[in-house]
Amino acid sequence: MNKIPRIAVVGSLNMDIVVEADRPPQMGETVPGNRVHFIPGGKGANQAVACARLGAQTVMIGSVGKDAFGQQLLTALQNDGIVTQTIKQVEDASTGIASILLSQGDNSIVVVAGANAHCLPEDLDQQRSSIEQADAILLQLEVPLPTVLYAAKQAKQLGKQVILNPAPAQDLPAELLANVDVLIPNEYELALLAGVEVTDETSLRKAMQLLLDKGVGIVITTLGADGAAYLTDDGTFGRVTGYQVDVVDTTGAGDSFNAGVAVSLAKGSSVQDAIRYASMVGALAVTKLGAQQGMPTADEVEQFSR
Ligand code: ATP
Repeated sequence: MNKIPRIAVVGSLNMDIVVEADRPPQMGETVPGNRVHFIPGGKGANQAVACARLGAQTVMIGSVGKDAFGQQLLTALQNDGIVTQTIKQVEDASTGIASILLSQGDNSIVVVAGANAHCLPEDLDQQRSSIEQADAILLQLEVPLPTVLYAAKQAKQLGKQVILNPAPAQDLPAELLANVDVLIPNEYELALLAGVEVTDETSLRKAMQLLLDKGVGIVITTLGADGAAYLTDDGTFGRVTGYQVDVVDTTGAGDSFNAGVAVSLAKGSSVQDAIRYASMVGALAVTKLGAQQGMPTADEVEQFSR
């Protein structure tokens, strides 16, 4: 199992602008803030960083603006050894941002897709060699849906493993699901995609089966601190319990779990082993602050597993 896994991530890059204030402003009002933080984010970039820290050769395909935030996001990925020549820099849009107001223990968020909306199917033709060289392609839903669909079809045709994290939650065309080998929703995304309420193990299993019926190969549902459940197209159902850890910040738990599954499967692990590995990655991620900065390394996971 010494193979170095190669992952191509097609997805979003955002600068998260986090503002702390004692109270949120009413519409039309100005209030003083206490602090501001600029934190690299975006589900695509978060998952790419997690893959790279877990030892994968990682290529990121996406789009940023030709501005200071774009440059900072590229540098953050390069610092983790991620190939970024595959990221388009566009003139006519600013880098994607998430404006996050933290106040009174709660948050409100405005996301501007910006350059992420310029990540287009034709970009994938230009980056075809990166996908040809990858073992698996890892996708989310923060770039345009036609791009996600095109990426899934292209990768599938090339015989690559297609892994989709269907977040943020939205309905998906049947053609996309039919091209997905491994679908990794959380409970909420699962219920929305399957169109059924998920309240217990029976409804959980039923919802996952409905997605397998649409052509997905394996469904892995993340269940927060409760771990994850899976159902494969040969009818194997199982649960992996979560690890008990001291939670500091759950941001990025899903992103780290997805990366854990992708890296482990690309190394040739079984589904069960990949989920066990991803559960350790997810558990370690929630013990640290921040999404990208909280992603654990392969060594940290190795130590945790002992
Ligand atoms: P987020 O949107 O916050 O990133 P998510 O809803 O996509 O998260 P979760 O199901 O909350 O994803 O978490 C993903 C995985 O991370 C879980 O399956 C589990 O393995 C791990 N995890 C999450 N929260 C905890 C926790 N409190 N303790 C241990 N492991 C956790």
